[in-house]
Amino acid sequence: MRVINFNPGPAGLPLPALERARDELIDFQGSGMSVMEHSHRGKEYEAVHDETISLLTELLGIPDTHQVLFLTGGASQQFAQVPMNFLHPGTSADYLMTGVWSEKAYDEARIVGQARIAATTVGPDKRYVRVPGQGELQLDPRAAYVHLTSNNTLYGTQWHTWPEVGSVPLIADMSSDFMWKPTDVSRFAFLYAGAQKNLGPSGVLIAVARKDFIAQGRRDIPKIFRYSLHAENNSLYNTPPTLAIYLCRNVLAWMKEQGGLAGMEARNRQKGELLYRSLDANAGFYRAPVERESRSFMNVVFHLPTPELDATFVAEAKKAGMVGLKGHRISGGIRASLYNAVSVDDVRALVSFLEEFARKKG
Ligand SMILES: *Cc1c(COP(=O)(O)O)cnc(C)c1O
Repeated sequence: MRVINFNPGPAGLPLPALERARDELIDFQGSGMSVMEHSHRGKEYEAVHDETISLLTELLGIPDTHQVLFLTGGASQQFAQVPMNFLHPGTSADYLMTGVWSEKAYDEARIVGQARIAATTVGPDKRYVRVPGQGELQLDPRAAYVHLTSNNTLYGTQWHTWPEVGSVPLIADMSSDFMWKPTDVSRFAFLYAGAQKNLGPSGVLIAVARKDFIAQGRRDIPKIFRYSLHAENNSLYNTPPTLAIYLCRNVLAWMKEQGGLAGMEARNRQKGELLYRSLDANAGFYRAPVERESRSFMNVVFHLPTPELDATFVAEAKKAGMVGLKGHRISGGIRASLYNAVSVDDVRALVSFLEEFARKKG
């Protein structure tokens, strides 16, 4: 029996993608071995690799100016690799600070070179409850790039309109909301997302890079860290995480069947609206700290009147078949992660549980 999984990452995967993996595991397409036992240079794996890239290209509408890369080391490695590639000596990069992950990205950039905070919404209590408005950005028109975190997994905030950054290249960490809805990737010089939140298992990171931008990346860094090297080799310079890419293929095929990114957006909006509406209707008991315009559709953060009640809520939800609801240790409370694989019915189950809980304990 499968549980209802609200884990923040690694997160639940769509059942059809797992069932397909189960059916193909031992004997992949009559080859007598599993996909992970194949050479990454053989035709069987190559077909999976190329299909994953073409599904990404089709679903996201990636233009010819851009290219998909499969990388490893997660988003955390990109925090270092982005400045290694794009922070040329004598230049500085702008960071938009909206949570723990943007802080980590900024800290890594400062080790590599010059970085400045072009906006921050950190509160006096060190927490973040919103993303900045355009008027709050103090952008350097000569910056090497502007970096933002599109969805703040811990605090439950999300950018709903992209900032205007003029001609400065825009870079985004989209780890926790990649492909949650149609996205104009041409706005970004480089975007990246660890797969384990919204797309697949851990072990692979997907980047969408503007070709001319990565071609101008620094050459005075080890080859393995150069995005241009991975681009020139179609992400096959070294052995890629073949099984993780294969599982992403299964999830992408499922997303396509569900109506692509327009289908994902419709489901995701319905899910978020159901949950926030219920929290607002029970605002005497549940407190959702994030400002309305910055509310995330991916990670919904809320608190009960006491930490003891938070813990009881999590324990009783588990008995009711719902897991992954405990808030991050930094932000506390409850966090329900409503990634693509979570269904509208899953959220309906959570909503009836939390309304019943408020009636009993409120
Ligand atoms: C989870 C997460 C990361 C870290 O990903 P790793 O794969 O652990 O490096 C970075 N950024 C965001 C927005 C995340 O949600």
